[in-house]
Amino acid sequence: VDFEDDLRAGDDELDYMRSISFRPNDRSGSLEGIPFVVKDAICVEGVETSAGSEILEGYKPVFNAAVVERLESSGAVFHGKTQQDEFGFGSFCTNCAHGTPRNPHDTSRVTGGSSGGAAAVCAATDKDVLSIGESTGGSITNPAAYNGVFGLTPTYGRVPRTGLVSYSNSLDKIGVLSSSLDLVAQGLEVVSGKDSGDQTSADRQVPEFSRESVPESLTVGVPTQLEQVDLEQPVRNNFEASLSRLENLGHDVERVDIPLLDPDVCVAAYYVMAVSEASTNLARFCGMRYGAEGNPGDHDDFNEYFSHVRGEKLGNEAKRRIILGTYARMAGYRDDFYVRAAKVRRKLIDQVEEAFDRYDLLAAPSMPGVAPTFEEAQDMSASETYAMDALTVGPNLAGVPQLSVPNGEGDGMPTGLQLIGPHWGEKLLIDTARQLSSE
Ligand code: GLN
Repeated sequence: VDFEDDLRAGDDELDYMRSISFRPNDRSGSLEGIPFVVKDAICVEGVETSAGSEILEGYKPVFNAAVVERLESSGAVFHGKTQQDEFGFGSFCTNCAHGTPRNPHDTSRVTGGSSGGAAAVCAATDKDVLSIGESTGGSITNPAAYNGVFGLTPTYGRVPRTGLVSYSNSLDKIGVLSSSLDLVAQGLEVVSGKDSGDQTSADRQVPEFSRESVPESLTVGVPTQLEQVDLEQPVRNNFEASLSRLENLGHDVERVDIPLLDPDVCVAAYYVMAVSEASTNLARFCGMRYGAEGNPGDHDDFNEYFSHVRGEKLGNEAKRRIILGTYARMAGYRDDFYVRAAKVRRKLIDQVEEAFDRYDLLAAPSMPGVAPTFEEAQDMSASETYAMDALTVGPNLAGVPQLSVPNGEGDGMPTGLQLIGPHWGEKLLIDTARQLSSE
């Protein structure tokens, strides 16, 4: 109940909740009584699920996403949905149809995106809340770092996407954010594992993420390609302090070359792939099947109706991505763009896997700077904004897990350390973060 009061206050002041709907749950389990919230793109039965878009206004799913079903079966209590960039398109949570969340650390600054509301809600309350986010190219790491909370993006396939409004199916991952690392571990344990509704979810045993073990003498690689990114001074200082801390804990820190982790290559390959898949995914929003509807009788034919509804209801960034993605998939261009990006991704996966033959973990800053102010964010062009994802798109393309760990402040704003693990290596990320965060 206390927590609900926080949510209400926050709703007025910070706008990080898209909707508040408390759903009592008397089931018992490992998460009994724990409040949870989900990113708006994740379906909750009977609760408007708009993925931050006007075009889905009024859409109330008739089923729960697999993760929601699993959380409720473990006794967790649904408290509402969090704000996000429209369909996940953004790095600042400023492309939202229903209000723009502000950073609880400084309300003149953004929360990060696209799971901005998901991270901000954790930072805004001192209660332990489990927040379910989604990342395609950094949307958990980014807001986790900007809000000073833990954010775990699992291995692709670890958590089923059943009931997620897709952005880019071959990249989308549902993950967990919280100010409590224990809750991240417990939450991940509950939501992980094969679901028959998602053919890409992996039939693998789920480790006991919440069982503590202390990692000993790890070899941590710092990819030189990520070190070349222009970093703000506080981010650089805190990153160096984190590396020293790892060394003091008895781990080795070394530089490693992973040529395709080059930010320019990754940003380009990621955006080609993501917008291509997004442009096909959005085709289903035509003003007939889900959410917003117009009056087809007012138009000459279906195409005109379809264009009208989409013209009215989709935001500018969504339109930009539909145009870019459709172009990249056109006969004649397909091989130069989508297929090429897919080849880069395949090779990147090989190079990253090779690095993990030698290194237990990789480390990099989570974001190049602290959360920008709304003015700063507004002054950035689309390509400048895309470049902010320099540190996060590579690991996402490779499908490996990442954990953003709060590692200090600069100008009163939090910064994050990004620990990157091999495929299925979430347990080691959690154990290392626990060791780093202990006194
Ligand atoms: N900023 C990236 C994009 O706009 C990442 C978004 C995401 O992970 N959903 O595509």
